[in-house]
Amino acid sequence: MKTFITTSILALFFVLGACSKGTEKDKPAATRETPTKTEGAGHAAKDVVPGSHEDWCGEHQVPESQCTQCDPKLAAAFKATGDWCEEHGLPTSHDRKHNPDLKIERPAKK
Ligand SMILES: [Zn+2]
Ligand SMILES: [Zn+2]
Repeated sequence: MKTFITTSILALFFVLGACSKGTEKDKPAATRETPTKTEGAGHAAKDVVPGSHEDWCGEHQVPESQCTQCDPKLAAAFKATGDWCEEHGLPTSHDRKHNPDLKIERPAKK
């Protein structure tokens, strides 16, 4: 009877050991998915190429070269094409309050 118990405990340890090894192996893949903290939070520099990955306003989630909230002078161009929401003071194409499903994709890094 004693031998049976010892064997059971040994078997249990073996299973637990195998499980913890398995989870450790999965860790690097999970951390790779997490975006870096510094990216996407700030504003683009003045000399970025419009339409590039760097041309992005992290605060308003639109291309910096088209961000009327950072540069109110840009509003006139949107108003001229009828792309303007008077209620929110935003281009309709940037207006997430009217279009909650609106997705503005940041251009991919080259
Ligand atoms: Zn902005
Ligand atoms: Zn609106």
